[in-house]
Amino acid sequence: CGIVGYIGPDQAAPFLLEGMSKLEYRGYDSAGIAVFDGSKINVDKSVGRLNVLAKKVEMKPLTGNLGIGHTRWATHGRPSDANSHPHTDCTGKFVVVHNGIIENYMHIKEKLIAKGHKFTSETDTEVVAHLVEEYYEGDFEATVKKVLETIEGSYALVFMCQDEPDKLICTKQDNPLVIGLGEGENFIASDIPAIISRTRRTYILSDGEMAIVTKESVWVMNRQGVPVTKKVFEVNWDA
Ligand code: GLU
Repeated sequence: CGIVGYIGPDQAAPFLLEGMSKLEYRGYDSAGIAVFDGSKINVDKSVGRLNVLAKKVEMKPLTGNLGIGHTRWATHGRPSDANSHPHTDCTGKFVVVHNGIIENYMHIKEKLIAKGHKFTSETDTEVVAHLVEEYYEGDFEATVKKVLETIEGSYALVFMCQDEPDKLICTKQDNPLVIGLGEGENFIASDIPAIISRTRRTYILSDGEMAIVTKESVWVMNRQGVPVTKKVFEVNWDA
């Protein structure tokens, strides 16, 4: 239901938790974050209010400068720790947060199970993380494109890859996604209030667009991989 992402020089977790709190008005039943600590991605997630997660993170901080967060409004699978986002593949190297519904997830899940993938949740979203693992051959961007050719439905998605920790990749179809443009840092969110304390310069993604977000740059392209020149949308109101 709510999505945030951070890449830059600062600690990611405090921004993720603050951004998620700004999306609380949308309603949610669970919350989670994933942060890359310099060698691996650590995930903490929990059913319930955001402060349940915030307390866990306070006790056992997730440190690192690259991360994604999610507040969930369950559509497939009851609210539970296991069904909370972020979701990972079998190796834990690929992590994803998702708003929306993957309509053909059952079909994909059956195929992946037949190939030996072990699922740990009842969500439609988890197939996306396993698909990335299934397709990955050393090129994160190409892999995400292939995943987008496989999945059907509505989504705002943000992907993280442990072996390519210099970037976040995000895309959307029928669910909102915004990129906040910073100085030497960039932000991703499902809605502007999550990022407004850090930047007012944004790109509003259109359906079918995909963005490669690094600390220094944001590359937007369409489904065919053709670069899209985005206009900066300046937010001139207060959240
Ligand atoms: N369909 C996904 C789930 O049930 C995402 C729900 C959401 O948008 O929060 O986990």
